[in-house]
Amino acid sequence: MSATLEIRNLHARVEGQEQPILRGVNLVVKQGEVHALMGPNGSGKSTLANVLLGNPAYEVTEGEILLDGENLLEMEADERSRAGLFLAFQYPVAIPGVTLANFLRHAINARMKAQDPDTKGISIPQFTRLMREKMTMLGIDHSFAGRYLNEGFSGGEKKRAEVLQMAVLEPKIAILDETDSGLDIDALRIVAEGVSKLVGPNMGALVITHYQRLLNYIKPDRVHVMYAGRIVESGGAELALRLEEEGYERIRSAYAASEA
Ligand code: ADP
Ligand code: MG
Repeated sequence: MSATLEIRNLHARVEGQEQPILRGVNLVVKQGEVHALMGPNGSGKSTLANVLLGNPAYEVTEGEILLDGENLLEMEADERSRAGLFLAFQYPVAIPGVTLANFLRHAINARMKAQDPDTKGISIPQFTRLMREKMTMLGIDHSFAGRYLNEGFSGGEKKRAEVLQMAVLEPKIAILDETDSGLDIDALRIVAEGVSKLVGPNMGALVITHYQRLLNYIKPDRVHVMYAGRIVESGGAELALRLEEEGYERIRSAYAASEA
């Protein structure tokens, strides 16, 4: 059965603030599909990503998020990950003396232990094989796995580590918020090409981006435009091209009245 992420009439605000940011988001992403979420700055895209991540700074006031029919909002961040969601803010932070390979093996073992407390985890030969396979597929130099996490990854290397993490954890649905790296075209390309290689029958993705050019490297099945906390338009890849040409002005003038 293919996994489904379903967002229903989601309303959210910053914890402790009156003003709503998300004002009724509806979205369904299935395993195997690539959805792009676009929209002008301040429309609520990152807020949606944060709510999916379970960031306690945000409060859901209405609506629900279901993963395969289960209430995501009641799950802790690690449970969300075990249930098959990958939230790409979780790339390795600097940990002294730990290599990327160690970090990833630990992540796999934690996932396996959660499912079966008696498991011994992934064996070294199995893990080595898995890493080789994934790095070859992604075109990542094999020496990269031996890098220490505290050595200071460049923006592009962080993205590469993130894509590799996604590849080994094999999530059902990956959520990527690429707005902040929007100006670094190399980092953007690494993510987009990685996601295109990983997306298939077993993985779906919600790619959040301000910039149409991300979509030069990844072909979305569906494109959604968020404005003032709602998805105001959805379409195929051609909607992204249209936005590239006309900018967000048409969206602003068409939907400004609904903003109040
Ligand atoms: P986008 O990612 O589409 O640019 P955001 O979700 O980052 O939009 O922001 C939507 C609106 O919510 C903006 O007006 C922003 O200032 C406000 N907002 C988001 N997060 C916070 C926060 N933690 N504290 C205060 N305001 C916030
Ligand atoms: Mg954002």
